[in-house]
Amino acid sequence: MFSVFKRNRLIRLLPEVRGKYTENAPLKNLTTFKAGGTAEVLFIPADAKDLADFILKKPKNVPITIIGGGSNLLIRDGGVPGVVIHLGKNLSKIEINDDEISCDAGAKDFAVVKTAQQEGLSGFEWLAGIPGSIGGAVRMNAGAHGVEIKDILVKASMIDSFGNIVELTPEDLNFSYRECIIPVDGIIISATFKCKPDSPDAIIKRMKKLLEKRTEIQPMGAKTAGSTFKNPEGIKAWRIIEKSGCKGLKIGGALISNKHCNFIINTGRASALDIENLGEEVRRKVFEKTEIKLQWEIRRIGVKTPKYSTFGGSR
Ligand code: FAD
Repeated sequence: MFSVFKRNRLIRLLPEVRGKYTENAPLKNLTTFKAGGTAEVLFIPADAKDLADFILKKPKNVPITIIGGGSNLLIRDGGVPGVVIHLGKNLSKIEINDDEISCDAGAKDFAVVKTAQQEGLSGFEWLAGIPGSIGGAVRMNAGAHGVEIKDILVKASMIDSFGNIVELTPEDLNFSYRECIIPVDGIIISATFKCKPDSPDAIIKRMKKLLEKRTEIQPMGAKTAGSTFKNPEGIKAWRIIEKSGCKGLKIGGALISNKHCNFIINTGRASALDIENLGEEVRRKVFEKTEIKLQWEIRRIGVKTPKYSTFGGSR
């Protein structure tokens, strides 16, 4: 594993925490691609205070990377140097106050959707088929069926790079398509959303309809990270990928879905390199056919291994 701390084991430089450190931890099972390398150190905080204390006390030159549901991530085979922080079960509380829902960042999207439905609160139905966590949904401004996180967010809390807990409004986050702006190393720890009261039956009917629609057009249950590329302005990425002859294209264990051309699937034993090279091949073919340079929506992190082939910059 590549490390910026050649002489010392990184773990010896880290502060005491109530959560858990694991050295050289495999990360693939924390992602929906089920591929990729290890973390130099994986840290699972016990709670938000533990995380804030860690950020305050860790040496400033130790890099950190956040993983939520891992559903929009490709972890390169060379692994991630520094500390990877996974927000999961320990930060997954969901609370209802009248028509607002407050969730910890590690809460799974579907758990929030289900709680809202059972409590007769509408506004989250569109999030039902998105397999990430609330922190990732805010960070990525997740969206579907014409709605985005920015449309329902009231406020979010973040730990800054000094370990302070800061409250952010939607304006502070400056949302755009699959993006928001947060300070470097900012970690979203919770978010509050506005809902509308409705009957649980009406909500579940709408959810089912949207999920059925998704099942028709997406390879449900596959090892994938959803849409690989952002839609260029006014254009569906899958359409130009299909037009460029990429349907069914394969590199190693990575395949362009026959059902949804913007989805890369790990058919079993794909390496992260297979997946990334296939994505770059698609970008090359699409550019050849349309002169459009697709931009990755999936976040790629970690160290590149040899045989990495990029097309026209690695956006
Ligand atoms: P991760 O993949 O863990 O992380 C994504 C990015 O957010 C990374 O840069 C990470 O560092 C950062 N991050 C995560 N948590 C935090 C945090 N707490 N604080 C700061 N930064 C953080 N997306 C859509 O928008 N619409 C869809 O319809 C959609 N459909 C999908 C369907 C499938 C089958 C799959 C697999 C994915 C789909 N996605 C979709 C993509 C993905 O689910 C979303 O982007 C999701 O919101 C990512 O959340 P996550 O918790 O998995 O984030």
